[in-house]
Amino acid sequence: MKIIIIGAGMAGLSAARILMQKGYEVTVLDKGRGVGGRMSTRTIENAKADHGAQYFSVKTTEFQTLISELQSDNITAEWHLVQRENVRYIGAKGMNTIPKKMASLLPVLVNEKVVLIENNTVKTESGNIYPFDKLVITMPIPQIIDLFQNSKMLFSENDKSVLGEIKYEPCIAVVAVLKEPTKIVSGGIILENQPVSWIADNFQKGITQIPTVTIHASSAYSAKRFDDDVNEVAKDMLSSVNQYINSENIVSSQTHRWRFSNATKRYEAHFYQIENQAIYLAGDGFGMGNVEGAFLSGYHLGNRF
Ligand SMILES: Cc1cc2nc3c(=O)[nH]c(=O)nc-3n(C[C@H](O)[C@H](O)[C@H](O)COP(=O)(O)OP(=O)(O)OC[C@H]3O[C@@H](n4cnc5c(N)ncnc54)[C@H](O)[C@@H]3O)c2cc1C
Repeated sequence: MKIIIIGAGMAGLSAARILMQKGYEVTVLDKGRGVGGRMSTRTIENAKADHGAQYFSVKTTEFQTLISELQSDNITAEWHLVQRENVRYIGAKGMNTIPKKMASLLPVLVNEKVVLIENNTVKTESGNIYPFDKLVITMPIPQIIDLFQNSKMLFSENDKSVLGEIKYEPCIAVVAVLKEPTKIVSGGIILENQPVSWIADNFQKGITQIPTVTIHASSAYSAKRFDDDVNEVAKDMLSSVNQYINSENIVSSQTHRWRFSNATKRYEAHFYQIENQAIYLAGDGFGMGNVEGAFLSGYHLGNRF
């Protein structure tokens, strides 16, 4: 049986691992240049910065098994954030080393953006056509709805009500290369009721030799300023945190707008099957959310087949 998985983020890779172990013929397609989706690490001027997911929890034994395996290969590391009681985890050399390691044994094709689903095949922007018996889709739900609409596929009333419930918050992220590391204790600081909700020092985090910070705007600020001039927004965000990052310390910066960052309203089950079709949806919009929820979504879907 041929299974196509759209998306090589945590959910797609987690599903692919299980399905490969079960002996299915699996192909994972991703539109990105690399794998990982929102577990993204960016290189700017030889400096590295996690600019999507920053750290993650490990609450379930299923996820613990994977993380322990990765920890013994020095891919993940524990992280103690002063403002959080329980231990958190990071990619020891950047968040995207985790999906890269997971993908290394899987049949993943990158630069393959799926643009059409038709007659049990998916078509990509490059013109390739992949037939499937079952299709797993793991991108954020609004992008799945667009893909369905472009493919002139119909949702049932139940499909519409399930998918309509799932919501994501936006996040504007600024990555800045610095002359010197910050003095942020433990490498990360959570801010409340301010334009910026999070600052991470990637040098102190241990993922780069060159001092680099990642700054995330709060969801309220991100929603309000999402379509504004990015340079103006970055300037405003950086000036709001000048007690932590002196503007004279900044060498260069880049801004990225994540339209879908965390899934704030999710469907309670780990995955969802489109009514009367061999199409299954997974990702952080299902179950627990975040990195661990995306893993569990793919894991439970893989075990369902
Ligand atoms: C700024 C930010 C901060 C975050 N902070 C945290 C955090 O600190 N802790 C935490 O646990 N979580 C955090 N998250 C959330 C976490 O990153 C996600 O929950 C998780 O990575 C989602 O994984 P996924 O596989 O469901 O989706 P994704 O990672 O989005 O994977 C979907 C994949 O589908 C691909 N794709 C999309 N459309 C197509 C198409 N048409 N054809 C082919 N491929 C396609 C994308 O390229 C992507 O690789 C954060 C996210 C962001 C953006």
